[in-house]
Amino acid sequence: MDTESVAASVDARREQLTALSRKIWEHPQTAFEETYAAEQLIDALIERGFTVDVGVGDIETAFLARYGDGSPVVGTLGEYDALPGLSQRATANREPVEDGAPGHGCGHNLFGVGSLGGALAVADAIDDGLEGTVIYAGTPAEEGGSGKTYMTRAGAFDDVDALVSWHPGWYNAPTAASCLAVDSFEVTARGTPSHAAAAPEAGRSALDAIQLLNTAVEYMREHVPDPVRLHYVITDGGAAPNVVPAEATAEYLVRAPSRTQVETVSEWFRNAARGAALMADVDVEVTQTGGVYGVRPNETLAATIGEVMTDLGGFDVTDRALAADLHETLENGSEAVSVLPADVRERARAGPYFTEPLDAFDAGTTGSYSTDSGDVSQVVPLGRMTTATFPVGTPLHSWQAVAASGSVGVDGMCYAAKTIGATLVRLLSDGDLLAAVSEEFEARGGVDYDSPMPADADPYELFDVARPTLDLDTSDRVRVVTADD
Ligand SMILES: [Zn+2]
Repeated sequence: MDTESVAASVDARREQLTALSRKIWEHPQTAFEETYAAEQLIDALIERGFTVDVGVGDIETAFLARYGDGSPVVGTLGEYDALPGLSQRATANREPVEDGAPGHGCGHNLFGVGSLGGALAVADAIDDGLEGTVIYAGTPAEEGGSGKTYMTRAGAFDDVDALVSWHPGWYNAPTAASCLAVDSFEVTARGTPSHAAAAPEAGRSALDAIQLLNTAVEYMREHVPDPVRLHYVITDGGAAPNVVPAEATAEYLVRAPSRTQVETVSEWFRNAARGAALMADVDVEVTQTGGVYGVRPNETLAATIGEVMTDLGGFDVTDRALAADLHETLENGSEAVSVLPADVRERARAGPYFTEPLDAFDAGTTGSYSTDSGDVSQVVPLGRMTTATFPVGTPLHSWQAVAASGSVGVDGMCYAAKTIGATLVRLLSDGDLLAAVSEEFEARGGVDYDSPMPADADPYELFDVARPTLDLDTSDRVRVVTADD
């Protein structure tokens, strides 16, 4: 099956994929609570004949679907969590559906369904005689919680030869870049409350410990390697100035290109927290809430994705009027194009959409962000790309991104489905290509994965989320994974 047939297979499902992405957009659920999206995606996979393991890595909304037989095994990742507070209608003015409610500001409703379209197209190719297996990994809690860490640790990708994934954006290009590894911590200090004026000597301030720790972090900044980034916020600093705070909480991130750098600085940070506790004469508890690797790039996969995009060409945006209106509302829409190669900026600036396929233009660079895909990329070669689901220059996590995710984004989503499907079909049908992909993976260090998260970390406890249950029509093709599996 060639790129054209894969494209036809996606086009034949365009209505189904569009409706599904819209339904998930209308039911935005945040990290670890994404039951609606997981159920919808699982149903679609079952209907197409996939078998599905649910509850992977002891995460209720994580699942692993597969179709076909034997090796090679290739597949894709689907995200579907929303962001808190970003509720927005599919209109070109700021208008929440419901004040304060979540919204799909990172386009993960498109992400999950675009990847689904790609996996279903590969299933069609397998029916046509292509040998091998395709998997679709449903990966929750990307925005906070790192669902993929728990899945990777549970061995979800151990028998997979290569994965191709994507993210919504405003141009079409593979990425060959890495990004930052990160550790995240919650620090809680516990002191002794007291009247701040009448009996200050009887109190010990939990907030003092947090302030001392933050002062330490400021001093650390001068003496960490240049790429290291340290950030913090105080989430609870006490209730009233006339009461010595008995409890105070802050959250911290330690980022750097390599795990070794992160771990060295994290160790120093833990020591600083101990010092702050001694200085303030209070108890300080440090809880690691997250820890992921940077992405290990695979330039062979990036080049293949680029070839497939060139084969496909660009695409048209169906609702160009809404796209143009949304583009108008962006404050820096035309400045954002400076991230693109110089020779295409003029064409991109013309907007509202820029759908010309580009080759990877970021090889050898490290993006200033972190993602739990980093963990996956340490155990299996991972190809990544961006497609143009949003008007040119749309920032992620903006209301414009929510609006486009519920409307004009579907064209870019189907383009992602075609690119994923056609790249996976190439990997299944071209043994030399797959060998080159895994050779590059090995040359970059092979599997060297040791999750920094404590073995007993319970994300539901860490993120204070009630463990949900999926409402599935359990058939013989759905298997609920238990801790013993
Ligand atoms: Zn995202």
